[in-house]
Amino acid sequence: MLSFWEKQSLIQYDIIIVGSGIVGLSTALSIKEKAPQYRVLVLERNLLPTGASTKNAGFACIGSLTEILDDLNNMSEEEVLQLVKMRLKGLRKLRTRLGDENIDYAENGSWELIRNTREDMFAAGEMDTVNAKLQPVLGAKAFELYDYKERQTEFGFSMSHLQYIVKNCFEGELNTGKMMRCLIDLCMSKGIEIKTGCEVVRIEENKNGVNVVANDSGNEMVFNAQQVGVCTNAFTRQFYPDLDIQPGRGQVLITKPIIGLKFKGIYHFDKGYYYFRRLGDRILFGGGRNLDFETERTTDFSFNQKIQNDLLDKLRTIIVPGLNPEVEDWWTGIMAFGSSKFPILMRQSERICMGVRMGGMGVAIGSGVGEKLANLIIG
Ligand SMILES: Cc1cc2nc3c(=O)[nH]c(=O)nc-3n(C[C@H](O)[C@H](O)[C@H](O)COP(=O)(O)OP(=O)(O)OC[C@H]3O[C@@H](n4cnc5c(N)ncnc54)[C@H](O)[C@@H]3O)c2cc1C
Repeated sequence: MLSFWEKQSLIQYDIIIVGSGIVGLSTALSIKEKAPQYRVLVLERNLLPTGASTKNAGFACIGSLTEILDDLNNMSEEEVLQLVKMRLKGLRKLRTRLGDENIDYAENGSWELIRNTREDMFAAGEMDTVNAKLQPVLGAKAFELYDYKERQTEFGFSMSHLQYIVKNCFEGELNTGKMMRCLIDLCMSKGIEIKTGCEVVRIEENKNGVNVVANDSGNEMVFNAQQVGVCTNAFTRQFYPDLDIQPGRGQVLITKPIIGLKFKGIYHFDKGYYYFRRLGDRILFGGGRNLDFETERTTDFSFNQKIQNDLLDKLRTIIVPGLNPEVEDWWTGIMAFGSSKFPILMRQSERICMGVRMGGMGVAIGSGVGEKLANLIIG
Protein backbone atom coordinates (compact mmCIF):
# COMPACT_ATOMS: atom_id res chain seq x y z
CA MET A 1 0.00 0.00 0.00
CA LEU A 2 1.51 3.33 -1.05
CA SER A 3 1.09 6.67 0.71
CA PHE A 4 -0.15 9.82 -0.99
CA TRP A 5 3.45 11.16 -0.90
CA GLU A 6 4.93 8.03 -2.46
CA LYS A 7 2.35 8.06 -5.24
CA GLN A 8 2.90 11.77 -5.84
CA SER A 9 6.71 11.92 -5.81
CA LEU A 10 8.44 8.54 -5.76
CA ILE A 11 7.09 6.41 -8.56
CA GLN A 12 6.79 8.85 -11.50
CA TYR A 13 9.64 9.27 -13.95
CA ASP A 14 10.07 10.68 -17.43
CA ILE A 15 12.04 7.67 -18.59
CA ILE A 16 12.63 4.22 -17.11
CA ILE A 17 15.41 1.95 -18.29
CA VAL A 18 15.10 -1.76 -17.51
CA GLY A 19 18.49 -3.44 -16.98
CA SER A 20 21.68 -1.89 -15.57
CA GLY A 21 24.30 -3.49 -17.80
CA ILE A 22 26.58 -1.43 -19.98
CA VAL A 23 23.76 -0.68 -22.43
CA GLY A 24 21.21 0.36 -19.79
CA LEU A 25 23.66 2.65 -17.98
CA SER A 26 25.04 4.11 -21.23
CA THR A 27 21.52 4.80 -22.45
CA ALA A 28 20.62 6.56 -19.21
CA LEU A 29 23.80 8.67 -19.46
CA SER A 30 23.17 9.62 -23.08
CA ILE A 31 19.60 10.65 -22.21
CA LYS A 32 20.85 12.90 -19.39
CA GLU A 33 23.55 14.38 -21.63
CA LYS A 34 20.94 15.31 -24.24
CA ALA A 35 18.03 16.18 -21.94
CA PRO A 36 19.24 16.90 -18.39
CA GLN A 37 15.76 17.94 -17.29
CA TYR A 38 14.39 14.37 -17.53
CA ARG A 39 14.04 12.23 -14.44
CA VAL A 40 15.60 8.91 -15.36
CA LEU A 41 15.29 5.68 -13.38
CA VAL A 42 17.23 2.47 -14.03
CA LEU A 43 15.75 -0.74 -12.63
CA GLU A 44 17.99 -3.77 -12.04
CA ARG A 45 16.61 -7.11 -10.89
CA ASN A 46 19.57 -8.06 -8.66
CA LEU A 47 21.81 -6.19 -6.23
CA LEU A 48 24.55 -6.20 -8.90
CA PRO A 49 24.02 -6.15 -12.68
CA THR A 50 23.57 -9.84 -13.51
CA GLY A 51 24.04 -10.62 -17.18
CA ALA A 52 27.24 -10.08 -19.12
CA SER A 53 28.52 -6.59 -18.33
CA THR A 54 30.23 -7.46 -15.03
CA LYS A 55 31.28 -10.93 -16.16
CA ASN A 56 33.16 -10.31 -19.41
CA ALA A 57 36.82 -10.43 -20.37
CA GLY A 58 37.32 -6.70 -20.88
CA PHE A 59 38.63 -6.94 -24.44
CA ALA A 60 38.24 -3.67 -26.30
CA CYS A 61 38.16 -5.44 -29.62
CA ILE A 62 37.18 -4.97 -33.24
CA GLY A 63 37.38 -8.66 -34.22
CA SER A 64 40.17 -11.16 -34.82
CA LEU A 65 41.29 -12.35 -38.27
CA THR A 66 39.46 -15.69 -38.09
CA GLU A 67 36.35 -14.03 -36.63
CA ILE A 68 36.21 -11.45 -39.41
CA LEU A 69 36.75 -14.14 -42.05
CA ASP A 70 33.91 -16.10 -40.51
CA ASP A 71 31.74 -12.96 -40.61
CA LEU A 72 32.65 -12.44 -44.28
CA ASN A 73 31.32 -15.96 -44.93
CA ASN A 74 28.05 -15.23 -43.19
CA MET A 75 27.21 -11.64 -44.12
CA SER A 76 27.94 -9.07 -46.78
CA GLU A 77 31.25 -7.21 -46.82
CA GLU A 78 29.36 -3.97 -46.20
CA GLU A 79 27.80 -5.41 -43.04
CA VAL A 80 31.15 -6.68 -41.79
CA LEU A 81 32.65 -3.21 -42.23
CA GLN A 82 29.66 -1.66 -40.54
CA LEU A 83 30.17 -3.91 -37.49
CA VAL A 84 33.85 -2.99 -37.29
CA LYS A 85 32.89 0.69 -37.47
CA MET A 86 30.32 0.24 -34.69
CA ARG A 87 32.96 -1.33 -32.48
CA LEU A 88 35.50 1.42 -33.16
CA LYS A 89 32.97 4.16 -32.56
CA GLY A 90 31.57 2.55 -29.40
CA LEU A 91 35.03 2.10 -27.90
CA ARG A 92 35.91 5.70 -28.67
CA LYS A 93 32.74 6.83 -26.89
CA LEU A 94 33.37 4.58 -23.86
CA ARG A 95 36.96 5.78 -23.47
CA THR A 96 36.10 9.46 -23.87
CA ARG A 97 33.21 9.21 -21.45
CA LEU A 98 35.03 7.33 -18.69
CA GLY A 99 38.71 8.22 -19.23
CA ASP A 100 41.40 5.63 -20.01
CA GLU A 101 43.10 5.91 -16.62
CA ASN A 102 39.85 5.27 -14.73
CA ILE A 103 39.16 1.98 -16.50
CA ASP A 104 42.80 0.83 -16.89
CA TYR A 105 42.52 0.99 -20.67
CA ALA A 106 45.82 -0.18 -22.13
CA GLU A 107 47.25 -1.41 -25.40
CA ASN A 108 49.65 -4.14 -24.38
CA GLY A 109 49.22 -6.02 -27.63
CA SER A 110 46.38 -8.04 -29.09
CA TRP A 111 47.15 -11.31 -30.82
CA GLU A 112 45.47 -14.30 -32.40
CA LEU A 113 46.94 -17.78 -32.14
CA ILE A 114 46.96 -19.58 -35.48
CA ARG A 115 47.05 -23.33 -34.95
CA ASN A 116 47.99 -26.13 -37.35
CA THR A 117 44.37 -26.66 -38.40
CA ARG A 118 43.24 -26.40 -42.03
CA GLU A 119 40.84 -23.55 -41.17
CA ASP A 120 43.48 -21.51 -39.34
CA MET A 121 46.06 -22.01 -42.09
CA PHE A 122 43.50 -20.88 -44.66
CA ALA A 123 42.85 -17.76 -42.55
CA ALA A 124 46.56 -16.93 -42.45
CA GLY A 125 46.62 -17.13 -46.25
CA GLU A 126 43.68 -14.71 -46.46
CA MET A 127 45.18 -12.06 -44.20
CA ASP A 128 46.24 -9.64 -46.96
CA THR A 129 42.78 -9.80 -48.52
CA VAL A 130 41.11 -9.08 -45.18
CA ASN A 131 43.54 -6.22 -44.51
CA ALA A 132 42.64 -4.69 -47.87
CA LYS A 133 38.91 -4.95 -47.11
CA LEU A 134 39.31 -3.29 -43.68
CA GLN A 135 41.74 -0.59 -44.85
CA PRO A 136 39.02 1.97 -45.78
CA VAL A 137 37.53 1.76 -42.28
CA LEU A 138 40.72 1.55 -40.25
CA GLY A 139 43.01 3.68 -42.40
CA ALA A 140 45.86 1.23 -41.82
CA LYS A 141 46.68 -2.47 -41.81
CA ALA A 142 44.67 -4.34 -39.17
CA PHE A 143 46.70 -7.56 -39.02
CA GLU A 144 50.37 -8.59 -39.16
CA LEU A 145 51.42 -12.25 -39.43
CA TYR A 146 54.47 -13.71 -37.67
CA ASP A 147 55.95 -17.17 -37.74
CA TYR A 148 55.35 -18.44 -34.22
CA LYS A 149 58.70 -20.27 -34.00
CA GLU A 150 60.52 -16.96 -34.35
CA ARG A 151 58.59 -15.31 -31.49
CA GLN A 152 58.12 -18.27 -29.13
CA THR A 153 60.46 -16.95 -26.41
CA GLU A 154 58.42 -13.74 -26.19
CA PHE A 155 55.14 -15.58 -25.44
CA GLY A 156 55.93 -19.04 -24.06
CA PHE A 157 52.94 -20.80 -25.68
CA SER A 158 53.22 -24.38 -26.91
CA MET A 159 55.38 -24.77 -30.02
CA SER A 160 53.64 -27.93 -31.12
CA HIS A 161 50.17 -26.38 -31.37
CA LEU A 162 50.93 -23.08 -33.08
CA GLN A 163 52.07 -22.17 -36.55
CA TYR A 164 51.65 -18.40 -36.68
CA ILE A 165 50.68 -15.53 -34.45
CA VAL A 166 48.70 -12.59 -35.84
CA LYS A 167 48.98 -9.13 -34.36
CA ASN A 168 45.85 -6.97 -34.29
CA CYS A 169 46.95 -3.33 -34.42
CA PHE A 170 43.63 -1.85 -33.25
CA GLU A 171 42.74 -3.52 -29.97
CA GLY A 172 43.17 -2.81 -26.29
CA GLU A 173 42.07 -4.09 -22.91
CA LEU A 174 40.32 -2.62 -19.91
CA ASN A 175 39.28 -3.48 -16.39
CA THR A 176 35.65 -4.61 -16.56
CA GLY A 177 34.94 -4.00 -12.87
CA LYS A 178 36.31 -0.46 -13.01
CA MET A 179 34.39 0.25 -16.21
CA MET A 180 31.09 -0.72 -14.58
CA ARG A 181 31.98 1.10 -11.33
CA CYS A 182 32.69 4.27 -13.34
CA LEU A 183 29.45 3.96 -15.30
CA ILE A 184 27.46 3.58 -12.08
CA ASP A 185 29.28 6.49 -10.39
CA LEU A 186 28.78 8.70 -13.43
CA CYS A 187 25.07 7.88 -13.54
CA MET A 188 24.73 8.79 -9.87
CA SER A 189 26.65 12.05 -10.34
CA LYS A 190 24.23 13.02 -13.12
CA GLY A 191 21.19 12.43 -10.95
CA ILE A 192 20.16 9.15 -12.58
CA GLU A 193 18.45 6.92 -10.02
CA ILE A 194 19.39 3.25 -9.99
CA LYS A 195 17.21 0.88 -8.02
CA THR A 196 18.72 -2.57 -7.56
CA GLY A 197 17.01 -5.74 -6.34
CA CYS A 198 14.04 -4.58 -8.37
CA GLU A 199 12.96 -7.19 -10.88
CA VAL A 200 10.59 -5.94 -13.56
CA VAL A 201 7.84 -8.49 -14.08
CA ARG A 202 5.65 -6.68 -16.63
CA ILE A 203 5.73 -3.62 -18.84
CA GLU A 204 2.25 -2.29 -19.62
CA GLU A 205 1.74 0.54 -22.05
CA ASN A 206 -1.37 2.70 -22.09
CA LYS A 207 -2.24 5.97 -23.77
CA ASN A 208 -0.99 8.10 -20.86
CA GLY A 209 2.30 6.34 -20.21
CA VAL A 210 3.90 3.03 -19.34
CA ASN A 211 3.46 1.10 -16.11
CA VAL A 212 6.60 -0.78 -15.20
CA VAL A 213 5.61 -3.41 -12.68
CA ALA A 214 8.38 -4.58 -10.37
CA ASN A 215 8.59 -7.24 -7.72
CA ASP A 216 8.99 -5.64 -4.28
CA SER A 217 9.52 -8.48 -1.77
CA GLY A 218 6.63 -10.45 -3.22
CA ASN A 219 4.37 -7.42 -3.75
CA GLU A 220 3.91 -5.51 -6.98
CA MET A 221 5.34 -1.99 -7.19
CA VAL A 222 4.17 0.01 -10.21
CA PHE A 223 6.46 2.72 -11.54
CA ASN A 224 5.26 5.01 -14.27
CA ALA A 225 7.07 6.75 -17.13
CA GLN A 226 6.39 8.42 -20.44
CA GLN A 227 8.99 6.29 -22.21
CA VAL A 228 10.73 3.00 -21.38
CA GLY A 229 14.02 1.60 -22.67
CA VAL A 230 14.41 -2.17 -22.47
CA CYS A 231 18.10 -3.13 -22.02
CA THR A 232 17.81 -6.68 -20.74
CA ASN A 233 19.89 -8.29 -23.52
CA ALA A 234 19.74 -12.12 -23.22
CA PHE A 235 16.76 -11.90 -20.85
CA THR A 236 14.47 -9.88 -23.09
CA ARG A 237 12.24 -12.78 -24.15
CA GLN A 238 10.63 -12.68 -20.67
CA PHE A 239 8.84 -9.57 -22.07
CA TYR A 240 8.85 -10.32 -25.81
CA PRO A 241 8.88 -14.11 -26.30
CA ASP A 242 8.99 -13.94 -30.12
CA LEU A 243 12.12 -11.82 -30.36
CA ASP A 244 15.05 -13.27 -32.36
CA ILE A 245 17.32 -13.71 -29.32
CA GLN A 246 19.18 -16.79 -28.14
CA PRO A 247 21.10 -16.70 -24.88
CA GLY A 248 24.72 -17.87 -24.99
CA ARG A 249 26.54 -18.70 -21.80
CA GLY A 250 30.25 -18.00 -21.44
CA GLN A 251 32.52 -19.84 -18.97
CA VAL A 252 35.53 -18.02 -17.55
CA LEU A 253 38.39 -18.94 -15.22
CA ILE A 254 41.06 -16.92 -13.46
CA THR A 255 44.26 -18.56 -12.29
CA LYS A 256 46.23 -18.02 -9.13
CA PRO A 257 49.39 -15.93 -9.70
CA ILE A 258 51.79 -17.83 -11.95
CA ILE A 259 55.55 -17.42 -11.73
CA GLY A 260 57.31 -17.14 -15.08
CA LEU A 261 54.54 -15.75 -17.30
CA LYS A 262 56.02 -14.25 -20.44
CA PHE A 263 53.22 -12.87 -22.54
CA LYS A 264 51.38 -9.57 -22.11
CA GLY A 265 48.13 -8.29 -23.58
CA ILE A 266 45.05 -10.04 -24.94
CA TYR A 267 44.68 -13.15 -27.12
CA HIS A 268 42.03 -14.89 -29.16
CA PHE A 269 41.80 -18.11 -31.07
CA ASP A 270 39.24 -20.17 -32.99
CA LYS A 271 37.12 -17.30 -34.44
CA GLY A 272 37.02 -15.54 -31.09
CA TYR A 273 35.42 -18.54 -29.36
CA TYR A 274 38.42 -18.67 -27.00
CA TYR A 275 40.05 -15.65 -25.40
CA PHE A 276 42.63 -15.07 -22.70
CA ARG A 277 44.59 -12.21 -21.22
CA ARG A 278 47.21 -11.51 -18.66
CA LEU A 279 45.99 -9.78 -15.50
CA GLY A 280 49.04 -9.02 -13.35
CA ASP A 281 50.58 -12.45 -12.74
CA ARG A 282 47.32 -14.25 -13.48
CA ILE A 283 45.58 -15.45 -16.61
CA LEU A 284 41.91 -14.87 -17.34
CA PHE A 285 40.75 -17.49 -19.85
CA GLY A 286 37.28 -18.09 -21.21
CA GLY A 287 35.16 -19.41 -24.04
CA GLY A 288 34.55 -22.82 -25.55
CA ARG A 289 30.83 -22.24 -26.14
CA ASN A 290 31.26 -23.78 -29.59
CA LEU A 291 32.05 -27.15 -27.95
CA ASP A 292 28.50 -27.49 -26.69
CA PHE A 293 26.25 -24.88 -28.32
CA GLU A 294 23.04 -26.63 -27.32
CA THR A 295 23.73 -26.73 -23.57
CA GLU A 296 25.16 -23.20 -23.59
CA ARG A 297 21.99 -21.75 -25.13
CA THR A 298 20.69 -20.92 -21.66
CA THR A 299 20.12 -18.06 -19.22
CA ASP A 300 21.16 -20.35 -16.35
CA PHE A 301 24.49 -19.28 -14.81
CA SER A 302 25.68 -22.77 -13.84
CA PHE A 303 28.88 -24.42 -15.09
CA ASN A 304 29.44 -26.83 -17.96
CA GLN A 305 31.96 -29.47 -16.88
CA LYS A 306 32.80 -30.44 -20.46
CA ILE A 307 33.81 -26.87 -21.30
CA GLN A 308 35.62 -26.39 -18.01
CA ASN A 309 37.72 -29.49 -18.73
CA ASP A 310 38.48 -28.21 -22.22
CA LEU A 311 39.55 -24.80 -20.91
CA LEU A 312 41.80 -26.43 -18.31
CA ASP A 313 43.34 -28.67 -20.94
CA LYS A 314 44.03 -25.77 -23.32
CA LEU A 315 45.39 -23.65 -20.47
CA ARG A 316 47.89 -26.36 -19.50
CA THR A 317 48.88 -27.60 -22.93
CA ILE A 318 48.73 -24.52 -25.18
CA ILE A 319 48.93 -21.36 -23.05
CA VAL A 320 51.34 -22.17 -20.23
CA PRO A 321 52.85 -25.60 -20.93
CA GLY A 322 55.07 -26.67 -18.04
CA LEU A 323 54.01 -23.91 -15.62
CA ASN A 324 51.38 -25.93 -13.70
CA PRO A 325 48.69 -23.23 -13.47
CA GLU A 326 46.16 -23.49 -10.64
CA VAL A 327 42.67 -22.08 -11.00
CA GLU A 328 41.54 -19.61 -8.33
CA ASP A 329 37.98 -19.00 -9.51
CA TRP A 330 35.35 -19.73 -12.15
CA TRP A 331 32.30 -17.76 -13.23
CA THR A 332 29.83 -17.58 -16.07
CA GLY A 333 28.03 -14.76 -17.87
CA ILE A 334 25.15 -14.74 -20.33
CA MET A 335 25.36 -13.14 -23.78
CA ALA A 336 22.65 -12.70 -26.41
CA PHE A 337 22.85 -13.87 -30.01
CA GLY A 338 20.44 -14.23 -32.91
CA SER A 339 20.21 -14.87 -36.62
CA SER A 340 22.02 -11.57 -37.22
CA LYS A 341 25.16 -10.35 -35.48
CA PHE A 342 23.73 -6.83 -35.31
CA PRO A 343 22.00 -5.65 -32.14
CA ILE A 344 18.24 -5.17 -32.04
CA LEU A 345 17.86 -1.44 -31.72
CA MET A 346 14.32 -0.33 -32.33
CA ARG A 347 11.14 1.35 -31.24
CA GLN A 348 8.90 -1.51 -30.12
CA SER A 349 5.78 0.63 -29.69
CA GLU A 350 4.83 4.25 -29.13
CA ARG A 351 6.39 4.41 -25.68
CA ILE A 352 8.81 1.47 -25.55
CA CYS A 353 12.21 1.13 -27.26
CA MET A 354 14.85 -1.55 -26.93
CA GLY A 355 18.60 -2.01 -27.34
CA VAL A 356 19.41 -5.68 -26.92
CA ARG A 357 21.38 -8.64 -28.44
CA MET A 358 24.96 -7.43 -28.04
CA GLY A 359 26.60 -10.76 -28.89
CA GLY A 360 30.17 -11.04 -27.63
CA MET A 361 30.95 -7.39 -28.34
CA GLY A 362 28.91 -5.32 -25.88
CA VAL A 363 31.96 -3.71 -24.29
CA ALA A 364 32.83 -2.40 -27.74
CA ILE A 365 29.40 -1.45 -29.05
CA GLY A 366 27.45 -0.86 -25.81
CA SER A 367 28.14 2.89 -25.52
CA GLY A 368 27.23 3.52 -29.15
CA VAL A 369 24.06 1.43 -28.85
CA GLY A 370 23.18 3.40 -25.70
CA GLU A 371 23.55 6.66 -27.57
CA LYS A 372 21.35 5.53 -30.45
CA LEU A 373 18.76 4.12 -28.05
CA ALA A 374 18.70 7.44 -26.15
CA ASN A 375 18.00 9.23 -29.44
CA LEU A 376 15.15 6.83 -30.19
CA ILE A 377 13.67 7.29 -26.70
CA ILE A 378 13.80 11.08 -26.57
CA GLY A 379 12.99 11.45 -30.23
C1 LIG B 1 32.19 -14.38 -20.47
C2 LIG B 1 31.96 -13.18 -21.34
C3 LIG B 1 33.04 -12.55 -21.92
C4 LIG B 1 32.82 -11.42 -22.75
N1 LIG B 1 33.90 -10.74 -23.22
C5 LIG B 1 33.69 -9.59 -23.92
C6 LIG B 1 34.78 -8.81 -24.35
O1 LIG B 1 35.93 -9.11 -24.02
N2 LIG B 1 34.55 -7.72 -25.11
C7 LIG B 1 33.27 -7.35 -25.45
O2 LIG B 1 33.11 -6.37 -26.18
N3 LIG B 1 32.21 -8.04 -25.01
C8 LIG B 1 32.39 -9.15 -24.26
N4 LIG B 1 31.32 -9.86 -23.81
C9 LIG B 1 29.98 -9.41 -24.18
C10 LIG B 1 29.52 -8.22 -23.33
O3 LIG B 1 29.83 -8.43 -21.99
C11 LIG B 1 28.00 -8.06 -23.51
O4 LIG B 1 27.70 -7.97 -24.89
C12 LIG B 1 27.47 -6.82 -22.79
O5 LIG B 1 27.88 -6.81 -21.47
C13 LIG B 1 25.96 -6.77 -22.88
O6 LIG B 1 25.52 -5.66 -22.14
P1 LIG B 1 23.98 -5.42 -21.88
O7 LIG B 1 23.88 -4.22 -21.03
O8 LIG B 1 23.26 -5.44 -23.17
O9 LIG B 1 23.48 -6.72 -21.13
P2 LIG B 1 23.72 -7.26 -19.66
O10 LIG B 1 25.04 -6.89 -19.14
O11 LIG B 1 23.38 -8.70 -19.66
O12 LIG B 1 22.66 -6.44 -18.82
C14 LIG B 1 21.29 -6.77 -18.78
C15 LIG B 1 20.82 -6.48 -17.38
O13 LIG B 1 19.39 -6.62 -17.33
C16 LIG B 1 19.08 -7.12 -16.04
N5 LIG B 1 17.73 -7.69 -16.10
C17 LIG B 1 17.33 -8.79 -16.78
N6 LIG B 1 16.01 -9.00 -16.57
C18 LIG B 1 15.58 -8.01 -15.75
C19 LIG B 1 14.32 -7.69 -15.17
N7 LIG B 1 13.24 -8.45 -15.39
N8 LIG B 1 14.22 -6.61 -14.39
C20 LIG B 1 15.31 -5.82 -14.15
N9 LIG B 1 16.53 -6.08 -14.66
C21 LIG B 1 16.66 -7.17 -15.47
C22 LIG B 1 20.17 -8.17 -15.79
O14 LIG B 1 20.26 -8.51 -14.44
C23 LIG B 1 21.40 -7.44 -16.35
O15 LIG B 1 22.08 -6.71 -15.34
C24 LIG B 1 31.49 -10.98 -23.00
C25 LIG B 1 30.42 -11.61 -22.39
C26 LIG B 1 30.64 -12.71 -21.55
C27 LIG B 1 29.46 -13.37 -20.89
